[in-house]
Amino acid sequence: MTVKIKAYAKINLMLDIVNRRTDGYHDLFMIMQSVGIYDTVTVCENDTESISITCSEEGIPLDSRNIAWKAAEAFFVATGIRNKGTEINIVKRIPHAAGLAGGSADGAAVIIALNKIYDTKLSDDELCKIGVKVGADVPFCLTGGTMLSQGIGDILHKVRPLRRCHILLAKPDISVNTGYAYRQFDTFGKMHTPDKLGMLCAMQSRDLNQICDKMENVFEQFIEVPERIAIKEIMKKNGALGFCMSGSGPTVFGIFENKSDAENAAVQLKNIAKDIAVCRPVNRGCKIVE
Ligand code: ATP
Repeated sequence: MTVKIKAYAKINLMLDIVNRRTDGYHDLFMIMQSVGIYDTVTVCENDTESISITCSEEGIPLDSRNIAWKAAEAFFVATGIRNKGTEINIVKRIPHAAGLAGGSADGAAVIIALNKIYDTKLSDDELCKIGVKVGADVPFCLTGGTMLSQGIGDILHKVRPLRRCHILLAKPDISVNTGYAYRQFDTFGKMHTPDKLGMLCAMQSRDLNQICDKMENVFEQFIEVPERIAIKEIMKKNGALGFCMSGSGPTVFGIFENKSDAENAAVQLKNIAKDIAVCRPVNRGCKIVE
C-alpha cells in the first residue's frame, strides 16, 4: 500500500520560552498556524524489513538522522510492528532549518501514513505521544490548523482560526541550529516576555490587527539574523499588518490583508531573502492526497 501526504509548514504567531526544565527541555507557549506551503511525502510498505528515504533536495540526511526516519522508527516501536519495510520519498518545498517545521511536518506525515498503511487506528492522543518523541513540533503538525501549543509541544489546544489573510515568508540565506538557539536562551535568558493573555484574547476575537500587534518571538532577542530589520521594513512599507520571526528562525513572516501588497513586498525582498513565498493559512497539518 502507498500513501501520499501533503505535509504543511507552520509559523509561530507567538513563541515564548516559559522556562528551562530540570530535564533540559523547555516549557513553551506557542501560537501555531499551519500555512499553505508543503512537502509531499509518499510512504510505501515493502518487504525489505528496513527504512529507506529518497529526497528531492540535497543536504537533507537520508538515514536515521532524518526526522521522517525517526518518526517511522518511533511508530514501529510504539505499535510493536516488526516487519518495518518502508520506503519514504520526500519532495521538499518547505525550506529546511528555517523555523517552518519542515522536518517535523515530514515526520508527522510518516506517522499518519503508517497508521493508515498498518490500519493501527491509533487515536490522536496516541499519535501525539509518538510524535513528541520525535520532535517538539511533530504533535502540532499531526493536527495543524491554529493551535496553542504548551509544555514541550505536547499539550495542544485549538484556538479560533485566523481570519482570511496572506502570509509572506522570507528566509535569508542563513540557517539557524535550533539546539544553539535554546543554548542562547539558557545563557542569556529573555529581556521581555510576550503578552500571552493579550494574544489569547486577540485570537479569541479573531481581530487580525490586534493579533499582529501582539505577535512576538523571544528567539528574536538572542538570535542574530542581520537581514531581519530590512525584511520587516520592506513588509511594513508594503502594508503588512504585522511581522515576526518564526521558530528559531531565520524566516521572517508578514501578514497582509491584500495579496497584491504581499506580492509587491516579495518582489522587493528578492535581493535580501533566498526563499520567498506568499501563502495562506490552512486548517490542517497533513492532508492525505492518495
Ligand atoms: P523547527 O521550526 O521545528 O525548529 P526548522 O524548520 O527550523 O524546524 P527543519 O526544516 O525541521 O528545521 O530542519 C532542521 C534540521 O533537521 C536540518 O538541518 C536538517 O538537516 C535536519 N532534517 C532531518 N530530517 C529532515 C527533513 N525531513 N526535512 C528537513 N530537514 C531535516
